[in-house]
Amino acid sequence: MSNKLVDICVNLTDDAFSGKEKNIIKEANKNNVSKMVLVGNDLESSKEVVNLAERFNFIATAGYHPHNAKDWNSKSYSEILSLLKKDKTKAVGECGLDFNRNFSNPEVQHSVFMDHISLAKDTNLPLFIHERDAFHQMYSILKNNIHDCKNIVVHCFTGTKNALIDYLDLGVYVGLTGWICDDRRGKHLRDFINIIPDDKLFIETDSPYLSPYISRKEPGVTSAMKHLNKPEYLVEVAKDVAKYRNQSYDYICEITYQNYLNFFEINE
Ligand SMILES: [Zn+2]
Repeated sequence: MSNKLVDICVNLTDDAFSGKEKNIIKEANKNNVSKMVLVGNDLESSKEVVNLAERFNFIATAGYHPHNAKDWNSKSYSEILSLLKKDKTKAVGECGLDFNRNFSNPEVQHSVFMDHISLAKDTNLPLFIHERDAFHQMYSILKNNIHDCKNIVVHCFTGTKNALIDYLDLGVYVGLTGWICDDRRGKHLRDFINIIPDDKLFIETDSPYLSPYISRKEPGVTSAMKHLNKPEYLVEVAKDVAKYRNQSYDYICEITYQNYLNFFEINE
């Protein structure tokens, strides 16, 4: 049985981590985080995470984040497809819909997301989904299109209980971030994350964003810890998820590790 943690969303190509990758990984390992999923969010970052995954023996995803959907062009499908064929690439994404800031217009996001669903079907890889302020559109797309998709995770879930129930009905996995630790933004989640079945739960940092320390006032929590999230802080997410699900920290380690093996089809 494992008491190791898996961070299913690390944006290791972010500028905040540039040149410090080795150290970030070392510190994460020291803090019990043994596995990471390095996520791509456009062509360049997807190429980079595949290389980093090879170099550090992690796994990667390849795809276009909805913010970057506007950059998708006629070559993108085949470019991402070739990255998805690499050994270390284990999911399509992150992809989806983000109507919070609409960095790409919603119609473009929709059509690029549909291309990612096709990529998942073509490759038989799971879908790694980002959804923010777009639950209803996302739910209806998934309901109508996921029959042949292998597995789906909605990462960084921050929605309502009803949204969670509907996602779970579709059989998707759910990823929880440091929002759960945040008194200002994540409080509502604490009442109902226990409805996520053990075999559908993931935890993640989404680092360098969403620090679990953001609303903490205890001594020792520095402003750097509040503003720059790192994979090593996954421990804080795991502790709070355990607390609000009424489970032990070790049990959270165990089930999320097992889910990682199942979802991404890792043989150890
Ligand atoms: Zn995301």
